[in-house]
Amino acid sequence: MQMDDELQSQMVPEEITGDDDASTESEALIEQFLAESGGGAVRDEGAVVAGGWDQELPPGHQSGFVALIGRPNVGKSTMVNALVGRKVTIVSSKPQTTRNRVIGILTEPNYQMIFIDTPGIHERPPHQMNKIMIREAVAAIPDADVILFVVDVSARPRDVEETIARLLREKAAKRPVLLVLNKIDQLTLRVAKARFAAYEALLPGRVGTIQVSALEGTNLDALHERLLTFLPEGPRYYPGDQITDQTEHHIAAELIREAVFRYTYREIPHSAAVLVEDYHERDNGVQYVAARIWVERESQKPIVIGKGGRLLKRIGSEARQELERFIGGKVYLDLWVKVKPNWRDEMARLRELGF
Ligand code: GDP
Ligand code: MG
Repeated sequence: MQMDDELQSQMVPEEITGDDDASTESEALIEQFLAESGGGAVRDEGAVVAGGWDQELPPGHQSGFVALIGRPNVGKSTMVNALVGRKVTIVSSKPQTTRNRVIGILTEPNYQMIFIDTPGIHERPPHQMNKIMIREAVAAIPDADVILFVVDVSARPRDVEETIARLLREKAAKRPVLLVLNKIDQLTLRVAKARFAAYEALLPGRVGTIQVSALEGTNLDALHERLLTFLPEGPRYYPGDQITDQTEHHIAAELIREAVFRYTYREIPHSAAVLVEDYHERDNGVQYVAARIWVERESQKPIVIGKGGRLLKRIGSEARQELERFIGGKVYLDLWVKVKPNWRDEMARLRELGF
């Protein structure tokens, strides 16, 4: 035990020995973080046409926003990744990892399609975070040229799907909504017809229904074709080589959060948050990234750190490799674990985290 502690202190010196004071010490960094990570896929007319992009575009160029809405775990991130063709959002076998509006950008010579991956909506919001998620999801609607209501047909419709459908009827009456029946690979023929009908009954006013498997890629071409019909003529909103508007800070935080979830299944369900406090290039060309993993309870700290710091090391190593793949360069990752009780319920702290 003693040895473990020593090892842990080596890995995470400040956090294990001295407790607290992170808030004052890193206030400036947090402000910087907020400045860099703020904003979502908001139409900013002023920023739309820059550097003569318009002149290179063919006549009839289309562009627009596609909002994905649906409860956690139905496959929204998987779908965006498959449509954009590169990993831009976080896929998890457990819900609620997409807390921010993460977008993917698909640019082709004739069009640009921008995906807004809305945070999940929950049946019973126990925390303020869930209220924020619903608010964010609703806020995504006016930006959208087309809304995808994504459901998982391997399961029956739940209350939350009725809530979403009502939300869409009330708040998105003038927007085209496409019902996307995902995970058809998981569906048995016997129940398929009734299952489709049950979902279709939720949203009589929709413009269409499409059955897909985001995971296996089934029918995604058809979905893509369908989406194109909803995009108005317009300019490129982003440079052609940009696939997300997330900052590197943000992407690093998401990759770390994903690794934490992967290795702490059950023990740390959704009580971990990640704050990237430093991200800069060192003289040798290596990207230096310092991040804190926030957990809610003291008892959760050793769960994330693991025996002898082994788990934290594995989490860090995996997140680092993912990040290196993403940015195409070397990364040095400094990971600390810190206890912040009830961070979920505190609006100010949520804002610090960029929610
Ligand atoms: P989100 O929370 O809606 O963004 O869902 P994710 O994209 O993170 O997916 C949640 C889980 O469902 C992951 O384990 C995915 O691999 C899985 N998944 C997504 N789409 C499909 C699908 O079409 N078929 C199957 N079998 N699994 C899927
Ligand atoms: Mg997601």
